[in-house]
Amino acid sequence: MEDTYRHKGLRRKLVESLRSKGIHDDKVLAAMDVVPRHFFLDSAFADLAYEDKALPIECEQTISQPYTVAFQTQLLEIKKRERVLEIGTGSGYQAAILGAMGARVFTVERQEHLFHQTRKLLQEMGFTNVRCYFRDGTKGLKEFAPYDKIIVTAGAVKVPRELLDQLKVNGLMVIPVGRRFQKMKRIIKKSEEEYVEENWGDFRFVPFVEGVEPE
Ligand code: SAH
Repeated sequence: MEDTYRHKGLRRKLVESLRSKGIHDDKVLAAMDVVPRHFFLDSAFADLAYEDKALPIECEQTISQPYTVAFQTQLLEIKKRERVLEIGTGSGYQAAILGAMGARVFTVERQEHLFHQTRKLLQEMGFTNVRCYFRDGTKGLKEFAPYDKIIVTAGAVKVPRELLDQLKVNGLMVIPVGRRFQKMKRIIKKSEEEYVEENWGDFRFVPFVEGVEPE
């Protein structure tokens, strides 16, 4: 796969359109400017990679719309070397954006096929700070907890208790909650028992499903 001047130009335009839609965090925009989104798609969709659209990936899942990736990442307020848990690796694009921002990323996927494919891609792209796991993300990833930040990229019916437990005090979790449509929630952990919940508008995600799907 190649990252040509044409791709870079399309990416620059996408970043400008995200800025005009209200994404203001320069670190998020810079990461989206460097990560080639077309690497994360089947070649049949490569031409659409720099449209602001969600697109199909394997296992009937989707790569989130660039605006959604930018919006969730902006809410996370990522700082270099923070430990970030992502639930729903999918194509790996969101994990790559977090990796490009210098976070230490732990990403979990329930579809074994996607897990293998994406782990290989992220390795080939040189993301040594992104580690992939084949797990049921409703249980988080306890062995590397606690995390500074947690991001869920599938629509959850409720916020899993185990994810809250794996967040550091003063940590942030961004999670879309709801059945058909989801409200984007940002949860701030004030102490072991105290949480503040903010609402950041309506989105649509593939469902957060319990259990794993072996190949
Ligand atoms: N962040 C991804 C979005 C992929 S769509 C990207 O940038 O491409 C959401 C993903 O969440 C799907 O791949 C789906 O299989 C996964 N998922 C759903 N429920 C899950 C669970 N309980 N644990 C881990 N992954 C899950």
